[in-house]
Amino acid sequence: MITTAVKDKTFDVAEIREQFPILHRLVKGKPLVYFDNAATSQKPQVVIDKLVEYYSGFNANIHRGIHTLAEEATAAFEEARDTAQRFLGAAHREEIIFTKGTTEGINLVASTWGRQNISAGDEIIISAMEHHSNIVPWQILCLEKGATLKVIPIDDNGDIILEEFKKLFTSKTKFVSVVHVSNSLGTVNPVKEIIRIAHDFGVLVLVDGAQSTVHLDIDVVALDCDFFVCSSHKIYGPTGTGVLYGKRSLLEAMPVFQGGGEMIKEVTFASTSYNDLPYKYEAGTPNIADTIAFKTALDFVASVGKKNVRTHENDLLAYATARLEEIAGLRIIGKGKDKISVVSFVIDKVHPSDIGTLLDNRGIAVRTGNHCTQPLMDRLCVPGTIRASFAMYNTRDEIDVFTTALEKSITLLS
Ligand code: PMP
Repeated sequence: MITTAVKDKTFDVAEIREQFPILHRLVKGKPLVYFDNAATSQKPQVVIDKLVEYYSGFNANIHRGIHTLAEEATAAFEEARDTAQRFLGAAHREEIIFTKGTTEGINLVASTWGRQNISAGDEIIISAMEHHSNIVPWQILCLEKGATLKVIPIDDNGDIILEEFKKLFTSKTKFVSVVHVSNSLGTVNPVKEIIRIAHDFGVLVLVDGAQSTVHLDIDVVALDCDFFVCSSHKIYGPTGTGVLYGKRSLLEAMPVFQGGGEMIKEVTFASTSYNDLPYKYEAGTPNIADTIAFKTALDFVASVGKKNVRTHENDLLAYATARLEEIAGLRIIGKGKDKISVVSFVIDKVHPSDIGTLLDNRGIAVRTGNHCTQPLMDRLCVPGTIRASFAMYNTRDEIDVFTTALEKSITLLS
């Protein structure tokens, strides 16, 4: 019997679970408990069906063909753009660029806006809790241009220290790139305040929404961020697609990213003129099928209701935190003021990966290691953590299975 604190007319976790076929499988002979949602979420049947429907019904290349299949595929792809625009609250559909995902979105901004606007001696600010995807592209740019990367410090709870952030600005500061929700700690950063502060200094801001878009209501206009990036696969959609949002005036002024089909207006051997937004940044055949199914995922999330999901996930996080705190020798890493959906911890004298292996033997999927945030692990003086991250289909019963298995694993390893 599946129990949850949230069971009302609009949100029934048992009904939600029915829509995710993978949740019915066994792992090592045990029912799967999937707590690795910050890495990627599972997919509902409607998303899987959409991929099959596309390939068996209207597979064609988009924008160029005049035949029926090409028109149907183009219409579905462009509808995905409209849906993503609404989902993120963007003012214009041309501000929605389809990418491979968060990583490609950040690299696109670093290698277009960055190449054009960053010079020797300039400074770019990131935070101490960034994913490698929001560190390395800026490091590459700084190396190429002779610029400097500065880091907003965090406190021991895993909160950004806003007072220190303000002190980092100089006349050389050109860009801020920060994560909205930390994948390792679950901290929800005060991005609206961060953007306001940066704008007061005349500096642009990119928000890494890889972890936030699935949980929080995103409104890029209200946030006033200059760029926002996210990945479909963390929002119950397929892998290999995602969105870069950018303010239209910025995207128009930026140089192109990749060259090829679709991003051009006219090509001669002497020169090329470029296409209008958003196609200017979508060179080559895009990930048509996955982007069309991404729309289905966004519609699915909207139909369940983010508010319902948040209430449910907050309950799971509070319940899991309380259960874990009862375990001797366990220390939670990341006790930020505002957290969502992620609990990270270490256990005295036990290596995280040994726990991960023993939990897997009981059908429980958690993530262990540095979670692509090595500098954050260094800052918090831990080699890595065990991370459980929750989604709309998880339950309190699963947390009980997990904490019981965890206690047994600790006994085995001690
Ligand atoms: N930023 C954060 C905060 C993330 O959690 C991730 C994925 N773990 C990324 C960036 C990179 O996302 P992707 O691999 O989908 O490009």
